[in-house]
Amino acid sequence: FSVNAYLTAHMRTVPDWPAPGVQFRDITPLLQNPQVFRVMIDAFVHRYMAPELRPDVVAGLDARGFILGAVVAYELNIGFVPIRKKGKLPFTTVEETYELEYGSATVELHTDAVKPGDRVLLIDDLIATGGTMMAGKKLLEKLGATVVEGAAIVDLPELGGSDKLRASGLSLFTLVDFA
Ligand code: IMP
Repeated sequence: FSVNAYLTAHMRTVPDWPAPGVQFRDITPLLQNPQVFRVMIDAFVHRYMAPELRPDVVAGLDARGFILGAVVAYELNIGFVPIRKKGKLPFTTVEETYELEYGSATVELHTDAVKPGDRVLLIDDLIATGGTMMAGKKLLEKLGATVVEGAAIVDLPELGGSDKLRASGLSLFTLVDFA
């Protein structure tokens, strides 16, 4: 049984969304199917139950990282913290701005979301250019936490994001490589 092949078979590609020429990799069919949802959550939970990788907290990236990260945190019996797009978090925050293909984006994290020395698992649905996950790592490090690993369902290796993240010293775990 190959998790990669099983999940790949359930992915949906939507052409020209959100802009002409973009092939959007849609993971919603993986969430909708209860067997597939369980396979991917279990893959994460089994990996992060291991004592060497066990985190103190899960940080999820807005917005699909919340769906996965919350369930993984619940199963590991640890807390969940959201990294949100700017303007959504009510308490004091740290923020990080990063470049997109057109323009820029800013993400925020509550200043009390993690403590110095906390070991954090950073989760999103997909790694494209790697900019979002890199910004999340920087936010956690601003508060003195350590990212034990970045995890995602899908990597788009041809965009070079995962290579860039690994080159920055971040360990990565992804379930599907999508060419
Ligand atoms: P990156 O910052 O370029 O790595 O883009 C990753 C972020 O954008 C993640 O939060 C993804 O949810 C979202 N994203 C970019 N491209 C896709 C896609 O093809 N499918 C689903 N999400 C995407």
